Amino acid sequence: MNIRRLFSFVILLALLFAMPVHLFAKKEKDKITVVLDPGHGGKDFGACENGAKEKDINLAVAKRLQELIEKELSDVNVVMTRSDDRYLTLQERADVANNNKGDLFMSIHVNSIDKKTRGREYTRGSSVYVLGLHRDQDNMKVAMRENAVIELESDYKEKYSGFDPSKDESYIIFEMAQKRNLGESIRVASDAQNELVSTAGRSNRGVRQAGFWVLWATSMPAVLVELDFICNPESVKFMVSDKGVDKLANSLLNSIKKFVERRI
Ligand SMILES: [Zn+2]
Repeated sequence: MNIRRLFSFVILLALLFAMPVHLFAKKEKDKITVVLDPGHGGKDFGACENGAKEKDINLAVAKRLQELIEKELSDVNVVMTRSDDRYLTLQERADVANNNKGDLFMSIHVNSIDKKTRGREYTRGSSVYVLGLHRDQDNMKVAMRENAVIELESDYKEKYSGFDPSKDESYIIFEMAQKRNLGESIRVASDAQNELVSTAGRSNRGVRQAGFWVLWATSMPAVLVELDFICNPESVKFMVSDKGVDKLANSLLNSIKKFVERRI
């Protein structure tokens, strides 16, 4: 009798040891990784006007958004491409997103218009971009300006497979961009766009498509937000104020909340 009990006990112990440890550990719920990319930084200032630098506004809004996500969305892990005033190439930004296996990439920028354009000081509003071939010249110009940072790299033609951000014909590659993630990117872009209007009170310039290198190089749903225009003094006043930063960040937070709801 005792021997049989001992035998059963040994068998039970053997079975327990044979079972993978993770079956006993309470499995930690997989977190959703959101990569925030404050555009520009360091020697790359982005657009500058009305006493403001684009790189600073982008960083302030992204850092506030990071705080809000960490406070309100326990299922989300935030990765920042930069948390201070440093220069990063577009490829390095995409590498951060891809290496961290991001579920969503959100690049944050401030818009501007050609200095020769009349009435530019009255141009206002938010637009959120997804990757694609621009439908008009305005969209292409925005992508050209945001891609121009590539030219700060001496060997950019080799590194970016011959892509020249200032040449029209380079943009043809984005026509082929049947990105797997386009549908979800458009959903996030629409939510962010609506929120920037309803929560942050920005004028609505709509969801648009254009050839942004950084969206091309990330392998996940990806959007690029143009918060408002730096050539408009009123818009700048809003974007550099604490209240403005908070409202802009909250708008983007709400769009990320909807993204997370779809994932859970
Ligand atoms: Zn920018």
